[in-house]
Amino acid sequence: MDADEFFNMFMDRLENQIKGTKEEHFIKQHFGGVVSNELICKGCPHYSEREESFLTVNLQVKNKKNIDQSLAAFVEGEMLDGDNAYHCAICDKKVNTLKRACLKKLPNHLIMVMKRFEFDYDTMAKVKVNDYCEFPTKLNLEPYTQQGLRKAEKAKKKEQGQDTEEQQQEENVTEYPPSYFEYKLVGVVIHLGFADSGHYYSLIQDREKEENSESWYEFNDHLVSNFDPKEIPSEAFGGEEKWKYFSGNDSSSMKEKIKNAYLLFYERIEHCSEDQFTTGAAKKDSPKKDEEGKEDRETTPTNRSNVENFTGDERPQLVRKLTSDSTLDSAALVKKEKEEDMEDLKNVPKEFLQNLMEKNQKFHLHKNIFSREYFEFIDEIVTHRQFTPNLKYTENYNIDFATNPEAYYDLETLKFAILFILTAIFRDRAREGIIRFLPFVKKNLRQVIFCDLVIY
Ligand SMILES: [Zn+2]
Repeated sequence: MDADEFFNMFMDRLENQIKGTKEEHFIKQHFGGVVSNELICKGCPHYSEREESFLTVNLQVKNKKNIDQSLAAFVEGEMLDGDNAYHCAICDKKVNTLKRACLKKLPNHLIMVMKRFEFDYDTMAKVKVNDYCEFPTKLNLEPYTQQGLRKAEKAKKKEQGQDTEEQQQEENVTEYPPSYFEYKLVGVVIHLGFADSGHYYSLIQDREKEENSESWYEFNDHLVSNFDPKEIPSEAFGGEEKWKYFSGNDSSSMKEKIKNAYLLFYERIEHCSEDQFTTGAAKKDSPKKDEEGKEDRETTPTNRSNVENFTGDERPQLVRKLTSDSTLDSAALVKKEKEEDMEDLKNVPKEFLQNLMEKNQKFHLHKNIFSREYFEFIDEIVTHRQFTPNLKYTENYNIDFATNPEAYYDLETLKFAILFILTAIFRDRAREGIIRFLPFVKKNLRQVIFCDLVIY
């Protein structure tokens, strides 16, 4: 299963689980958009459309230099003409018709799938497309939406002096403000590998931090590290890279990168809700109270960034209402919070809780193993051993404790130290924690030649 298939399955299951609860529309509200499949008659003013909801927008990568080209291809459509012309039911005749799909409604969180996995019918095998394809950190989607396309078409007609009769497509149209189409990149899922095997990891922007601070993290299994967003092009755009190899002379050639973006997560810069916009004339919002109960003085409803459409009791349950209990002392407050936590946990499936508990235990164990204190402790154990100089080791290194206890302890200490280095050196990114006793181990290993190479 690839990440896209996983996402769809996950959302499906989630949707089933929340059916009938207050959060029933959660997924649609945050991730769901609408695509319009349009039939635009060219020989007559008639028009029809079929709406289709989506959770992800799939983008072609092959031969596309950037996602603007992919999106342009997405809305390009095809002309139905000649024998293939569309039969307009109203005119009862065949007319040349443009058949296309375009974005109609956009969610606050827009997920795009780069189509990097294809089926090759020549080789009958799944292949990965490693083509170079750029994506921006700021994205304006208006040109690929119904509103944007119509605007552009109108402008083009005007320019060409055609003042032809209006297409009958103006009903059921919402006029969105420019901010509706403005997005920023907040996450990328990278696929590293081939069509049939590979590894996923994520680059995610820290959105809790104040605006304009570009703080990103790489989430790679249990390793979380800082990530410089300037590296996004080299990490995620794909394409080729220089590859150095040695064959007598130093040579280099280009080879395909097997690491590239697979899922893109864009977030609308100013969150909004579809309910803010009404079909036809825009609804004038009376001043609303925002989260802190202050009057919202913004002039347009879309400026209320991050304020979702929840009011009063419709708010997600996770937002605690503790303000009304201001008379409680802090101990009672903590107790109450704990009780509420337990109450929240009641709805969580047992299996999931068990799994979470195990994960947490493992995490804390690892956290201790890779702590500075633990490294220092190991350092003390290893360096504390006074190695016997010039010990004679037998050839098969089976040292018997009874006949040669000193050599036995020396060798066991070294084995332990090497095992620790090999386990920790690859997992501890900081590394300086183990470098301290490395010279000591190296020095003592010189007596035990068979291991000497290991340390280099
Ligand atoms: Zn017609």
